[in-house]
Amino acid sequence: MAASGGHSGGAAAAAASIPCVRLNTGHAMPVLGFGTGSSSPPADLPATILHAVRLGYRHFDTASLYGTERAVGGAVADAVRSGAVASRADLFVTSKLWIADAHPGRVLPALRESLGRLGLDYLDLFLVHWPVAAGENKKLLPFDMEGVWRDMEECHRLGLARSIGVSNFSAAKMSRLLAFAAVPPAVNQVEANVGWRQEKVREVCAKNGVVVTAFSPLGAHGSAWGSNAVMESGVLRDVAARRGKSVAQVALRWLHEQGVCFVAKSFNKERLKQNMEIFDWELSEDDKEMIMQIPQRRACQGEFFVSQDGQYKSLEELWDGEI
Ligand code: NAP
Repeated sequence: MAASGGHSGGAAAAAASIPCVRLNTGHAMPVLGFGTGSSSPPADLPATILHAVRLGYRHFDTASLYGTERAVGGAVADAVRSGAVASRADLFVTSKLWIADAHPGRVLPALRESLGRLGLDYLDLFLVHWPVAAGENKKLLPFDMEGVWRDMEECHRLGLARSIGVSNFSAAKMSRLLAFAAVPPAVNQVEANVGWRQEKVREVCAKNGVVVTAFSPLGAHGSAWGSNAVMESGVLRDVAARRGKSVAQVALRWLHEQGVCFVAKSFNKERLKQNMEIFDWELSEDDKEMIMQIPQRRACQGEFFVSQDGQYKSLEELWDGEI
């Protein structure tokens, strides 16, 4: 998608308010994306996504795991048909390779299946969802990072994925991948928020031109595994009161000022709008110092990816000690 312009009607001004970052493939990615991962996606999700497009959202995050690819694809088609955007090229769609398909030879077919569900010719970004592989009956197996990445590169060369990247990769795994990648990852999507700052991952990504995108930027508040560390933080409450903003806006603004992109999930029209209104004000140095005092804890531990048969025998191994 273009860094700016190309939008039609009243959405144009709003869309311009979400800035873009340039990926190492030369493509522009809006720094704020609409996260569609949810344990209970509503039946009217396509209408909510279309509403988000009208508000100015241009970046949509899905995955084969989420069961929301059809809803995203339907909304993309509706957005073009209704003139909310001039063409599909005005939208940025991310999807992800699930662990059952994280095997050499399975990557390209899995991408084609995702594209089929989305009704699209290409993805803007295709991510390896976890550095994990599973076989039939969900049994965990060794993960062939290089074999899977070679197939991701083929997806990129074929033009089916304009950019490719990873998710849930530790700093150590990023370094391993970067050492052999012919097409370097454009993005590493990881859990990141004021309560889990991901400094090591951010450092290795910054050195190598890889964009970090935060998932659970609000701590996955309300989900089974999520944390209250963001939305119920006393520090954020104080900063929010001082700035006249909401706690969620302070949390998202902090990520933006760190140079981290983010995919936030809200299926609520008011909160979708609120989450966009973070690009025309700043946190003070005092605010940021207070935020740095927030205790750190990873919420999404990935304990289900640890087993004696799989790649990782402990959480230490899964995260290379970065826990
Ligand atoms: P999140 O965005 O941190 O938090 C979502 C929760 O916050 C929802 O309960 C939402 O409720 C609420 N919320 C949103 N905006 C709010 C606001 N302004 N004020 C108060 N509450 C607000 O959590 P997430 O869903 O875990 O992460 C976002 C996206 O990241 C997912 O949807 C998915 O696309 C992606 N993700 C990726 C991975 C991965 O492994 N790569 C893992 C997890 C998530 P309402 O809907 O009611 O507003």
